[in-house]
Amino acid sequence: PPVMRMQNLDKVYPNGTVALKNLFLDVHPGEFVSLLGPSGCGKSTALKIAAGLTGHSAGRIQRPGEDEVRGIRAKPGDIAFVFQEPNLMPWLSVFDNVFLPLKLAGTSRAEARPRIEEILATVGLAGFAGSYPRELSGGMKMRVSIARALVTKPRLLLMDEPFAALDEITRNKISQDLLSLWQATGSTVIFVTHSVFESVFLSNRIVVMAARPGRIIGEIGVDA
Ligand code: ADP
Ligand code: ADP
Repeated sequence: PPVMRMQNLDKVYPNGTVALKNLFLDVHPGEFVSLLGPSGCGKSTALKIAAGLTGHSAGRIQRPGEDEVRGIRAKPGDIAFVFQEPNLMPWLSVFDNVFLPLKLAGTSRAEARPRIEEILATVGLAGFAGSYPRELSGGMKMRVSIARALVTKPRLLLMDEPFAALDEITRNKISQDLLSLWQATGSTVIFVTHSVFESVFLSNRIVVMAARPGRIIGEIGVDA
């Protein structure tokens, strides 16, 4: 079964803007799907609905860990989200930023330590566990943010233009890391971008959205 299923979704914002119209999207286990389209076509809205950060106006959605009928909500490890900004806690060290979602899930510090050290090494931040966000470059902060999202081994990772604020060289380096992490963790990713290059480079399926009014106009499989 799909990890996430959107069926006939509409989204109308309170001011009357129709952001999505009849959106259908199935995302299968292990896929890296890009949502590609111009600004304003509804990509972020679709992702926010997937994350449960905003509601939909009509249609149905099935998210990992949730059961609408039985009223079961997603928990840490079901869905993780990476935004354009790293959104790190400035008063917490790199270690404690990455520890946060595990802590919320009830994992002890001692139990979490090996996993945090491993994931920091994978994103090229071995040796930075004790650093604070203000001591890091933009690219390093984004790596911490990705590590924090993946440390719970989420079944579904949602990313909204995570590299938008980075220079091209940093972006390319982190893209490589993200691919390694995706392969190592086997998680399922939905990646929002307006970059054709990023979508082709990163994903095995590209879902193309149209500028108006928030619908899918095509799909490209880019499996090797
Ligand atoms: P994208 O991520 O593709 O740039 P968005 O999902 O952000 O697109 O936006 C889709 C449409 O919905 C746009 O017309 C945008 O202006 C509008 N929109 C987004 N958020 C809101 C909001 N909170 N209230 C009203 N309109 C919104
Ligand atoms: P990124 O490409 O991840 O943004 P940079 O190009 O800014 O990283 O930095 C390259 C390397 O320099 C980093 O991987 C890190 O080892 C080191 N570095 C960068 N900023 C700092 C810092 N504030 N303190 C210590 N080392 C740093």
